[in-house]
Amino acid sequence: MHFLIIGGGIGGLTTALALRQQGHHAQVFEAAAELREIGAGVVLGANAMRALDRLGIHAAVRAAGQPITSIGLLDQRGGVLNEVDTTAFTQRLGYDNLAIHRAALQRVLLDSLPAGTLQLGKAFERLEQQGSQVTAYFADGSSATAAALIGADGIHSRVRRQLLPHSQLRYAGYTCWRGVIDAQALGLPAGRSTESWGRQGRFGYVPLGNGQVYWFACVNSPAANDATHRTWRRAELLRQFAHYHAPIPQLLAYTRDEQIIWGDILDLKPLAQFAYGRVLLLGDAAHATTPNLGQGAGQAVEDAAMLIRCLHEAAEPEAAFRLFDQRRRPRTTRIVNQSWQLGRAAQLQNPLLTNLRNAVMRCVPPSVNRRQMAFLYEGE
Ligand SMILES: Cc1cc2nc3c(=O)[nH]c(=O)nc-3n(C[C@H](O)[C@H](O)[C@H](O)COP(=O)(O)OP(=O)(O)OC[C@H]3O[C@@H](n4cnc5c(N)ncnc54)[C@H](O)[C@@H]3O)c2cc1C
Repeated sequence: MHFLIIGGGIGGLTTALALRQQGHHAQVFEAAAELREIGAGVVLGANAMRALDRLGIHAAVRAAGQPITSIGLLDQRGGVLNEVDTTAFTQRLGYDNLAIHRAALQRVLLDSLPAGTLQLGKAFERLEQQGSQVTAYFADGSSATAAALIGADGIHSRVRRQLLPHSQLRYAGYTCWRGVIDAQALGLPAGRSTESWGRQGRFGYVPLGNGQVYWFACVNSPAANDATHRTWRRAELLRQFAHYHAPIPQLLAYTRDEQIIWGDILDLKPLAQFAYGRVLLLGDAAHATTPNLGQGAGQAVEDAAMLIRCLHEAAEPEAAFRLFDQRRRPRTTRIVNQSWQLGRAAQLQNPLLTNLRNAVMRCVPPSVNRRQMAFLYEGE
């Protein structure tokens, strides 16, 4: 069968790979004129690594990233609120949690696809479903027709906007700066990621291997696209996080302004439907989440693996897409909602509430951490 995939991000490329391996023909249409080294780090949970194994690219992805074996939750002075060692858990599953640069992951995916699968400079405008065919129309005046279309065009999906003009993006109430820097000189332990919660904001970092570190800083901001926050770079972040524990000020000091990416944190209010006849929404287009559980990219990868299982069970795209819808919506909805709640707790500023929250976090029993790991990393 022939599939059109709109969007050449992690979801679109992984889906193309999955479909090709099942003997289908897949073409990916990406609006950008070139795939640039944009983005920062992403963490692929063991659930995503298992899905990538099914697609035959586990080894290539793992070689390009850094396994993360412990996740520390700290207060702004560096006191431990919660520490999760994932080693035993992920060893039992047979897969690591892997930190990787988004661009490196995209490169491995692209290298695994036959030349010509991805067409750049193809901005999708609208689609038409007629009988057993779907046609996509692009901004350059061209069009393409196939048996089915997959909207993998990200959080601002134009495919979704045509199908669901009233679907809503939600501003989470905080804005975020990210960077990937060479921090070899700081000698941070490989394999340990941390996130520090304080009243001035939240700061996390994740080693990506070879001395590279991905950091992020989230600060409350009353409305999206705040005129002051959008101008903040290193100097302002250094001021904001000056009293946080080492190595936070040091990581910021090592960062150049041009290495910093800024963006508000948004998600998509969970949808009631992913499948629309011969059209399917997938990845961020279907279930964009806040980044608090580190599952944005991982859920897109899980989608691709589930899609081929559904196509194996139901050969017709409409039936396979309905199956996908039934199977993927409950899990992705739960992740979107949990991540939203976690973000609210993490961004608390009121002194009484933050003290109470920190006291609760210090008492989280290991069994609760294990249940959460099982939910996130065992996957489907
Ligand atoms: C530039 C960028 C940087 C990111 N950085 C991070 C990060 O540092 N950490 C993190 O956790 N997550 C990041 N994300 C989000 C994370 O990559 C996603 O959660 C995850 O990869 C889901 O993948 P996706 O393919 O559904 O969406 P995306 O990765 O957003 O890919 C969607 C693709 O569709 C393309 N597209 C959009 N509109 C059209 C159109 N009309 N026609 C054709 N193509 C279109 C976009 O150019 C993009 O390539 C980033 C996303 C982007 C786009």
